[in-house]
Amino acid sequence: MARNDTFEINGRSYPIVDHTYDTVVVGAGGSGLRATMGSAEGGLRTACITKVFPTRSHTVAAQGGIAASLGNNTPDHWSWHMYDTVKGSDWLGDQDAIEYMVREAPQAVYELEHAGVPFSRNDDGTIYQRPFGGHMQNMGEGPPVQRTCAAADRTGHAMLHALYQQSLKYDADFFIEYFALDLIMEDGPDGKVCRGVIAMCLDDGTIHRFRSQAVVLATGGYGRCYFTATSAHTCTGDGGGMVLRAGLPLQDMEFVQFHPTGIYGAGVLITEGARGEGGYLTNSEGERFMERYAPSAKDLASRDVVSRSMALEMREGRGVGPDGDHIYLHLDHIDPKVLGERLPGITESGKIFAGVDLTKQPLPVTPTVHYNMGGIPCNYHGEVMAGDPKDPEKIVPGLFAVGEAACVSVHGANRLGSNSLIDLVVFGRATGHRLKEIVKPGISQDELPKDSADLALTRLDHFRYADGSTPTAALRADMQKGMQKHAAVFRDSKLLAEGVEVLKDVNKRMADVKVHDRSLIWNSDLIETLELDNLMAQANVTMASAENRKESRGAHAHEDFPDRDDKNWMKHTIAWFDGWGGNGGGVKIDYRPVHEYTLTDDVKYIEPKKRVY
Ligand SMILES: Cc1cc2nc3c(=O)[nH]c(=O)nc-3n(C[C@H](O)[C@H](O)[C@H](O)COP(=O)(O)OP(=O)(O)OC[C@H]3O[C@@H](n4cnc5c(N)ncnc54)[C@H](O)[C@@H]3O)c2cc1C
Repeated sequence: MARNDTFEINGRSYPIVDHTYDTVVVGAGGSGLRATMGSAEGGLRTACITKVFPTRSHTVAAQGGIAASLGNNTPDHWSWHMYDTVKGSDWLGDQDAIEYMVREAPQAVYELEHAGVPFSRNDDGTIYQRPFGGHMQNMGEGPPVQRTCAAADRTGHAMLHALYQQSLKYDADFFIEYFALDLIMEDGPDGKVCRGVIAMCLDDGTIHRFRSQAVVLATGGYGRCYFTATSAHTCTGDGGGMVLRAGLPLQDMEFVQFHPTGIYGAGVLITEGARGEGGYLTNSEGERFMERYAPSAKDLASRDVVSRSMALEMREGRGVGPDGDHIYLHLDHIDPKVLGERLPGITESGKIFAGVDLTKQPLPVTPTVHYNMGGIPCNYHGEVMAGDPKDPEKIVPGLFAVGEAACVSVHGANRLGSNSLIDLVVFGRATGHRLKEIVKPGISQDELPKDSADLALTRLDHFRYADGSTPTAALRADMQKGMQKHAAVFRDSKLLAEGVEVLKDVNKRMADVKVHDRSLIWNSDLIETLELDNLMAQANVTMASAENRKESRGAHAHEDFPDRDDKNWMKHTIAWFDGWGGNGGGVKIDYRPVHEYTLTDDVKYIEPKKRVY
């Protein structure tokens, strides 16, 4: 432990409790737990900070499964998985990182199996694998491959519990229900360096300063900047917010995935595994319309393609329901015994959230915000990129990112289903390896700079005493509706330009936010406001990045620029934000090159071509 001191502001005191670790991981979802295990296993003194109990992280809700070319149910090869991921990313993914992920994937799944994940089984005892959208045999030629390893439709639940149980075996310290506020950054001889993180214990309001050689951000996605999303209410992109406040950029934020099958009205997810097991979509005329849009893959085309096809059907007046604003998903032709074994969770969700017995009736569904392809730019070791235009591969010493918070980038402009869970464990593990290489266990660390807590605690105190006239919930609703309307499945120049203004306006109103509760004990009003501040910055960055990209690629479907434009736009967007607290500032945009090379000579760079399914 280093010194404990007190931060004073406006006549108020915040006593600080100090901790020193080799590694601090923020987040205990699949990626955070895997990184925590890797770090602790490597003999590093490791802390894991999490705002929710580890097994309540959003990973617990993952249903369909985890992709790896085990070849148990159909022939498969890692190079086929690589091809599908590159094509799925619409050539925006970095092919060195993609090669790394697909080659490490089988080993990562066997590790999970040995860690106790109760995978569904084939008759011969091997792990059961189901088909998923965009995953094909023979370098995209087809037929669909069975590559997605599943524990019924509760794969994330099984994984997260096994990972948490395992991580308890290692000597890591868990700080549960601690809310990380901000990174501690210092100017080094060659740019910014990360020295630790400041967090607040939600239970008693105590402030904790963690000094460490490495901080790993594993804080998940920011789906909650939209009105309807499949993600948990805790998915507020806090890591992305901290990175922006540290003056670092986020990458490819315009690419937001809409999952084709959120339950109409509720937003609750129905896994793509439902279509993997034979489910299909129909319009108001009872037509299986995906046969027209994707003649080969049909209902198992990739998510952006299926979501756009559904939106077009509804727009052309063939949606179902009195307002023609949804589509039917049929599972009523599948043997109820198979549904009971392989899709028990969604059978229950259908009953609870749509009042439908899906063994007998179709389920009303609509494309729903599901996943953020964009995030904190990093390489395949988890090292965060500084966003230096002169040196695009330059890293920020001491700072790492993994999981949905990160943008490695393996998913590029569109992620394939079941490729996130594998991303979590492969890059969680890779980060563990890197930490072992560069962090020296237990060495004495320099004193932190005198102002180490200033950013975090000035902001905390500011929102704690915020005394404007607009409640947090009202601002949040306006931000969410703005995103829902202006950055949806289809976008055009006018909608996006208006969207930028709408979001700027809502952001300005952060200066007028009202927090009612001044205490520091389980102050959900205050925490939701801090989360909103993180969401607001990322909503503005997403909208500005989308307005800026004048092409259509993956999940970014721009109606005034309907084609992909590799000549001008085969590049990652990177964006900074300086409009904090509604100060009138905005978003600055630059670019990083896409890695147009593979990791090894075992596979050739996959040349861009037109993306059809
Ligand atoms: C309903 C649903 C189903 C899905 N199904 C699949 C699937 O079948 N296959 C697939 O591949 N992908 C699926 N996905 C996507 C995938 O599950 C997620 O991308 C992934 O689980 C994210 O994991 P993570 O480790 O990045 O973060 P999360 O699991 O979201 O965890 C984030 C962690 O960060 C912590 N945290 C956040 N902010 C703070 C803070 N300020 N201070 C302290 N701690 C903080 C939280 O406490 C939590 O522990 C699904 C997603 C959803 C929403």
